[in-house]
Amino acid sequence: MIKENVQKIFKEIPEDVLLVAAVKSRSINEIKEAVDAGVKIIGENYLQETEKLFPYIEHIVKWHYIGSIQKKKIKKIVKIFDMIETVDSVDVLREIDERAKGVDKIMPVLIEVNSGREEQKSGVYPEQVERLVNAAAPFKNVLIQGLMTMGPFADDPEKLRPYFKLTKELFDFLKARETKNVQMKYLSMGMSDSYKIAIQEGANIVRIGTLIFGPRHDR
Ligand SMILES: *Cc1c(COP(=O)(O)O)cnc(C)c1O
Repeated sequence: MIKENVQKIFKEIPEDVLLVAAVKSRSINEIKEAVDAGVKIIGENYLQETEKLFPYIEHIVKWHYIGSIQKKKIKKIVKIFDMIETVDSVDVLREIDERAKGVDKIMPVLIEVNSGREEQKSGVYPEQVERLVNAAAPFKNVLIQGLMTMGPFADDPEKLRPYFKLTKELFDFLKARETKNVQMKYLSMGMSDSYKIAIQEGANIVRIGTLIFGPRHDR
């Protein structure tokens, strides 16, 4: 089933849109099946899980960190991952910069936008994104490559459209102001129920779990 699911998604999304398979709480065999079916990027929320998967599939895929960031884990996250999609503070940027310097790496990151302005959610409020991006100027080992957003919980994915639109506008605004370590290239929006709408609104990374692996048996 996983193989068919992946193939179906690849058929539906345009070629220039990247599929990130969100694999939290899935087994190694499930993930391998997705990789065999052509998945090139794995999105992980948990560092520990990633370390378990690593020996099996490290080099065949790229790894995106899509979970919430704890400062003490940044050292390992920087070492392992090819992109961090969930950056939302100067403190985190500074720590990433320092750790990336330590391993001689330029760390690609996306800024997570709290497009629904929900207090309990991670991400930067839309009007604060420009300031955060500007604050990254001295961090030579960080490369800001775009924005990511989840949007608020919605029973109907169509309700997410305004939040995707808003994030795209922000993306275009920042793209016109690119600096040395800011290259607005990726817009990561849309999950299993909303990726089609997200792509219509300009997403070029979609993060999909349930539609590939089925309903989650959460821990
Ligand atoms: C789990 C997760 C997804 C995928 O969600 P599905 O609804 O299962 O497709 C996407 N992005 C993030 C940040 C996630 O944690």
